[in-house]
Amino acid sequence: MNEIAAQLGQVGLPEPVSALAARRWDTIVVGGGHNGLTCAAYLARAGQSVLVLEARERLGGAATLERPFPDQRFVISPCAYVIGLLDETVIRELDLHRRGLEVYLADPQLWIPFDDGTAFAQWMDHERTEAGLRSLGVSPKDIAGYFAYEEMFDQMRIKLRKGRRDSWAGESPSRDELEEMLGGDAYMIDVLFRASIEEVLSEYVSDTRLRDALYGQGIIGTWAGPKDPGTAAVKLMHFIGEVEGHGAAWGYVKGGMGMVSFAIADAAREAGAVLAAGVPVGEVLPGEGVRLDDGTFIAARAVVSNADPKRLMTMVGDVPADYRRRIDEWDIRSPVVKFNAALDRLPSWNAAPGETFMARGVVDVISTLDEAQVAFERCAAGEPAVGFGEIYFQTSHDPSPAPEGKHLVSVFGQYAPYGMDWGARRGEVARQFIELIGRYAPDFEDCLISYEVLGAPDIEERVGLTGGHIFQGEVRPDQMWENRLTPRTPIPGVYLCGAATHPGGSVIALNGKNAAMAVIADMS
Ligand SMILES: Cc1cc2nc3c(=O)[nH]c(=O)nc-3n(C[C@H](O)[C@H](O)[C@H](O)COP(=O)(O)OP(=O)(O)OC[C@H]3O[C@@H](n4cnc5c(N)ncnc54)[C@H](O)[C@@H]3O)c2cc1C
Repeated sequence: MNEIAAQLGQVGLPEPVSALAARRWDTIVVGGGHNGLTCAAYLARAGQSVLVLEARERLGGAATLERPFPDQRFVISPCAYVIGLLDETVIRELDLHRRGLEVYLADPQLWIPFDDGTAFAQWMDHERTEAGLRSLGVSPKDIAGYFAYEEMFDQMRIKLRKGRRDSWAGESPSRDELEEMLGGDAYMIDVLFRASIEEVLSEYVSDTRLRDALYGQGIIGTWAGPKDPGTAAVKLMHFIGEVEGHGAAWGYVKGGMGMVSFAIADAAREAGAVLAAGVPVGEVLPGEGVRLDDGTFIAARAVVSNADPKRLMTMVGDVPADYRRRIDEWDIRSPVVKFNAALDRLPSWNAAPGETFMARGVVDVISTLDEAQVAFERCAAGEPAVGFGEIYFQTSHDPSPAPEGKHLVSVFGQYAPYGMDWGARRGEVARQFIELIGRYAPDFEDCLISYEVLGAPDIEERVGLTGGHIFQGEVRPDQMWENRLTPRTPIPGVYLCGAATHPGGSVIALNGKNAAMAVIADMS
């Protein structure tokens, strides 16, 4: 394990702030999330003097590790919990495997229990998936439709990522270029820019169980219901990467997702970047450097903000009016709420009593597609309505972050709005999670040792993401591709490198690399 991982990212100050301030840096990176660290690593490898200033005591941003429970032996990934989009070139170039990155593929990729005691399983082995669908009584036409649905998204992935150019690397392709990459296929173009996940599912399958099982991948992190436009593109975004050579797959990281950030931090430090934590930046002075919250000025030719764009706007004074307006209008409404828990044992599911195989995969607990749309509408009206939960059991693959025989569970839920009274209603949201999971695993509540509920305001406070938005901004088509923010801003010497930039939110790291390339090009 690298030294930063052994400290769970709590790197502290490498030298007194006065010593850091005595130097003039080529670039200061504001924020030590995985993208800020990636940016720093590439800049340092290009020979720049780089200082990363992270406000929190630990590195990683939304991809980190914490010990929130009274029993400190439980180490959780409080926010990001699974890997599926981390860029393969970054993994290779920063040598992340040598620095401790180890991935276990989730298998089943999805396991979704139904109220009638049956379940849908999406295995890595397609024949096994097909056999399961047959035993559910799904018609041959719908079985073929299901595979055609997944194949259509996979073909889009290949066209957009594996063709002449990788659409995620460097600047975003224009809409015309994207259409050309998709071979002018009108259906795929519609999926990329307009369709809802409900429309696409209805095109391929008529079995309502399949539609209910599969809509969830189109709503992850988005302020929308499954019938709303743009949600098909959200499913695509989540299936456009690869893990360990497997296209469109997700997996667990040994030790938890913070290990990704800590491996990147190790690469940055080895390349010569200086990493400082517990140092909030208060002001960005374009062309000059930054001023810390404690008033210390540190000089730098360029400043790269890993902090989200709305936070950057609070730190910089002189911003062209149209850019400030654009950031003011940047949509960060978040429907996400997280339920993290320490478990005494794994729960038993009605659809497979006493079995634990599903805990090595990803389990979705769902309401129907129609109910999910209603839940979103309730959320948009200010009410919590947790009707979808994606569940991860880190300890099934990797028992290291829990005491022997105990388990961790992390549930990514929707929908609960930022603006509700979290102080008064947190317990109600916890009950919604417990009841939704208990509907399929009745002993779930008995398994709980400790738990925490993180609503959008908690995520904002904990990891600094404005509005608690998990992607530093909505990822439906109107904020993606050419419409996503670019590393270069109109503020001289000030750049963005976080999830708000192309190619979008998640643990991808290309945003950080793309920003580093822009800084290097501008400085040389
Ligand atoms: C609940 C949740 C679940 C998620 N699940 C997944 C998942 O399973 N898989 C996945 O791939 N993605 C997931 N995501 C999304 C993913 O984690 C984020 O999109 C990604 O980690 C953002 O990385 P980043 O480096 O761009 O920004 P951040 O992680 O937001 O890092 C920004 C950093 O800047 C720091 N900062 C802010 N202001 C200042 C300041 N003034 N001075 C100094 N430092 C400052 C912050 O403290 C933070 O460390 C999830 C996110 C959340 C919140």
